[in-house]
Amino acid sequence: MAQSCKYIDNCPLFQQFKHAHGKVVWMLVYCKGDSQAECERLKARERGETPSPTMLPDGSDLIEATTR
Ligand code: SF4
Repeated sequence: MAQSCKYIDNCPLFQQFKHAHGKVVWMLVYCKGDSQAECERLKARERGETPSPTMLPDGSDLIEATTR
C-alpha cells in the first residue's frame, strides 16, 4: 500500500473526506492510495500554488460535483 500523501495533515479537503462517508473512496484512492501522484491538489501544492479548498483530486470542484 502506498504511503499517505505528505500534505494529508494540512489538506482542507482531506479533513472533509474524513467526515463524509460518501467521500471515503477519494481518500483511499488518492490520499492513502496509489493514485496520489495524480492528485491535482498535490500537483498544485508542488507548483507552490494554493488550491481552492473545494477542489477535488481530479481537478473538479466539490460544490459543483454535489449540486449536479
Ligand atoms: S486531496 Fe490530494 S493533496 Fe489532499 S491529502 Fe489527498 S492526495 Fe494529498
